[in-house]
Amino acid sequence: MKKLNRRAVIKAVAVSSVAVPVASSLTGCVTDGVKSQTEANPAGSNIRVVVIGGGFGGTSCAKYLKRFDGNIEVTLVEPKKTYMTCPGSNWYLAGLTDAKSITHDYTSLSDIHGVNVVHQRVSNIDAAAKSVSLEDGTILGYDRLVVSPGIDFKYEMIEGYSEADVDKIPHAYQAGPQTELLYKQIREMKQGGTFVIAPPPNPFRCPPGPYERVSMIADYFKKNNPTAKIIVLDSKNKFSKQKLFQEGWDALYGDMIEWIPAIDGGVVTKVDVATKTVYSEYETIKADVINLIPPQKAGKLAFDAGLTKGDWCPINQETFESTIHRGIYVIGDSSIAGKMPKSGHSAASQGKMCAAAMVSDIHNWAQPRPKNVNTCYSLVGSDYGISVAAVYELHDGVIGKVKGAGGVSPMGADDAFRKMESNYARGWYKSITADIWHS
Ligand SMILES: Cc1cc2nc3c(=O)[nH]c(=O)nc-3n(C[C@H](O)[C@H](O)[C@H](O)COP(=O)(O)OP(=O)(O)OC[C@H]3O[C@@H](n4cnc5c(N)ncnc54)[C@H](O)[C@@H]3O)c2cc1C
Repeated sequence: MKKLNRRAVIKAVAVSSVAVPVASSLTGCVTDGVKSQTEANPAGSNIRVVVIGGGFGGTSCAKYLKRFDGNIEVTLVEPKKTYMTCPGSNWYLAGLTDAKSITHDYTSLSDIHGVNVVHQRVSNIDAAAKSVSLEDGTILGYDRLVVSPGIDFKYEMIEGYSEADVDKIPHAYQAGPQTELLYKQIREMKQGGTFVIAPPPNPFRCPPGPYERVSMIADYFKKNNPTAKIIVLDSKNKFSKQKLFQEGWDALYGDMIEWIPAIDGGVVTKVDVATKTVYSEYETIKADVINLIPPQKAGKLAFDAGLTKGDWCPINQETFESTIHRGIYVIGDSSIAGKMPKSGHSAASQGKMCAAAMVSDIHNWAQPRPKNVNTCYSLVGSDYGISVAAVYELHDGVIGKVKGAGGVSPMGADDAFRKMESNYARGWYKSITADIWHS
């Protein structure tokens, strides 16, 4: 009888963690090998893993747990039946893609991989009893728990703004109804109107996200509302891929976009929701549409379960196990994962790393040491893409960057290069969502 093979798991996590712009490369050829080997091995039998959160981190982890050891009983708990991705949601705002193309379901996860998918919200984690309570009253016992609840917002940091106001002033930083609302508001804005966006302070989900959004809204305005203004009131003095974004903004949108850094008074201190007035040291602006992205913290469930220290969840960066509660693993945006940015690509990589670490632990193998990649593509225009990539590995217990690996797109590249990167951006999206939700 063939035994589950540690090398096969390492190979699978290594292949699947690396970013490449074609779908087939991500899914790799190791699946069948791992599956046939695990079917014959009982080590994961009677082990119940519950994964909370069906986003980039949780879904990826649930799928790869089953791939690495098909005997483990894996249950994914996610309230939504379909998940709209934040990646691609800025393209949707511009009208460059539709909502259906960025919305995914969990059919493959249950039908192909045998994950039990439960569409409920977790209301409580009892770490001592090793159980989670769902909103319908069901209690699920677990041997190990993975928590990937994404982010929550510190609304109280902006005077006059609260969670109750998001249906008037959306943040659209969790894709779904908020994205649809912002989409509608942009289209209903008067000709020559003023759009104000306020990106959050560090650390936050997807560092280039607000600036890709500025670009995509400018793309829409250029075609449909060419005298509109976009004012970026920033809580920071610099931002991800800044020079590349600004080069693209100058080339594509002239003086439509004005960026005000914190040092020039860009920090939004107060908002009057009723009159759509935004207050900052720079200026008091009466806007037509406002997109306020508040400061961020770990998802609410992480706080309720006592998994946080400060705003985020401390973890053992080799295994993703919480340093507060043994047997509970935290991945994705909620976790403190060394130098890895809070991104979908990072969360998916962490899901796989966590799955490999857990399976190795169950089988009493040495922990794998995968190298991981994060690539953040952004569209500045429909045929204008830019990117930043880095490779990560564990150093002295902390996930750090591999020196000399990765990089950013060059400044001053020609149109063909930017177009090629815009195609890579779309290819990246197809690859990663196919890997997580469709294969
Ligand atoms: C505009 C924008 C653009 C972006 N673009 C990119 C990009 O191009 N590339 C990239 O890599 N990243 C991008 N990101 C970042 C990416 O979306 C996040 O980093 C990623 O979604 C994090 O994954 P996660 O699993 O931590 O959280 P999420 O994907 O948010 O998943 C969390 C899930 O947990 C569920 N949940 C929460 N609480 C509970 C509970 N109590 N019970 C059960 N389920 C619960 C939620 O319903 C949710 O589905 C972008 C983000 C934004 C906002």
